[in-house]
Amino acid sequence: MPSMTVLVTGGAGFVGSHFVRAACESGRHVVILDDLSGLGLSDADSLLTLPLPSGATFVRGDIGDGALIRKLCKEHAVESVVHFAGKIQVGESVRRPELYFDVNFARSLRLLDALREAAVRDVVFSSTAAVYGVPQEVPISESAPTVPVNPYGCSKLAFEWALDSYARAHGLRFAALRYFNASGAHPDGTLAERHEPETHLLPLVIDAARGSRPPLMVFGHDYPTPDGTCVRDYVHVCDLATAHLRAIDKLAQGHSLGPLNLGTGHGYSVKEVLQAAQDVLGAPIPHVVGPKRDGDPPVLVADCRAAQRHLDWQPVRSELATLLEDAVRSRW
Ligand code: UDP
Repeated sequence: MPSMTVLVTGGAGFVGSHFVRAACESGRHVVILDDLSGLGLSDADSLLTLPLPSGATFVRGDIGDGALIRKLCKEHAVESVVHFAGKIQVGESVRRPELYFDVNFARSLRLLDALREAAVRDVVFSSTAAVYGVPQEVPISESAPTVPVNPYGCSKLAFEWALDSYARAHGLRFAALRYFNASGAHPDGTLAERHEPETHLLPLVIDAARGSRPPLMVFGHDYPTPDGTCVRDYVHVCDLATAHLRAIDKLAQGHSLGPLNLGTGHGYSVKEVLQAAQDVLGAPIPHVVGPKRDGDPPVLVADCRAAQRHLDWQPVRSELATLLEDAVRSRW
């Protein structure tokens, strides 16, 4: 039996698949639990036929299936869990909050209860900067008020509270890693950011440049930012993967970490991203300026000193040009 098995929910997704690769490369055994609902049909089909990294096992299933979770924990001697599985689209969450509270909260709670029954107590949770809503101050630290402005952020925050309560009552140890803008791709080009439907800026910019999608629509031009477009903190998915590995190790050493921001501390506007993409690709990016998107705060930039301190972690691939080069390689 391998000594260190990690159960990875949502391990077929964007951040999850990068984590699985990093975990296997570091010698861990990984059990991926994913229902493939976040992928398009053709991506799901092709994923099922791809070889898994050595050390990984894939199980198609539901995080709310307590019997399955208990069985996996027992069969694979699971020691820790990284919980990526969840619904992630802000706009959809406004239209269908029931779906977001079901998956991100209710079913996630079933997962937590099954882990408790299986005596697995280390959980790393994939959380989000959306828990802060529209921040009063940037950079945003973990002690900033959490006032989410959409059901997506509410459902993620609700689960953070469940983790905190279980930690106090039942000895659970957890890290809630609040990602800013996860982007980039593995530098070898074999893993890409694929969501169905795709709503994220970098893939849409690259596809607009390739001509495989319409010109990018820039959401809003009169925000209170230097060039009028929204500013975000883009962090490379491989840097995120490393942070999760560090978090597992810290939990295993007996530290419960609580919420930690994962970003770089530097923000770029949509216009700056377009300019950087033009520099990387050597051609202008077709785009049009459109209306603001509901619920988009003007500036989201992380204060990530706590993650640096507690995880001994620094982003090393999150320069904007590197992010874009890696993302381009994975999509072109
Ligand atoms: N954005 C945009 N056009 C798009 C998609 C995104 O202008 O088609 C902007 C969006 O308003 C935000 C930034 O790009 O300021 C990043 O958006 P994304 O959806 O990638 O991540 P979010 O910040 O919403 O988590």
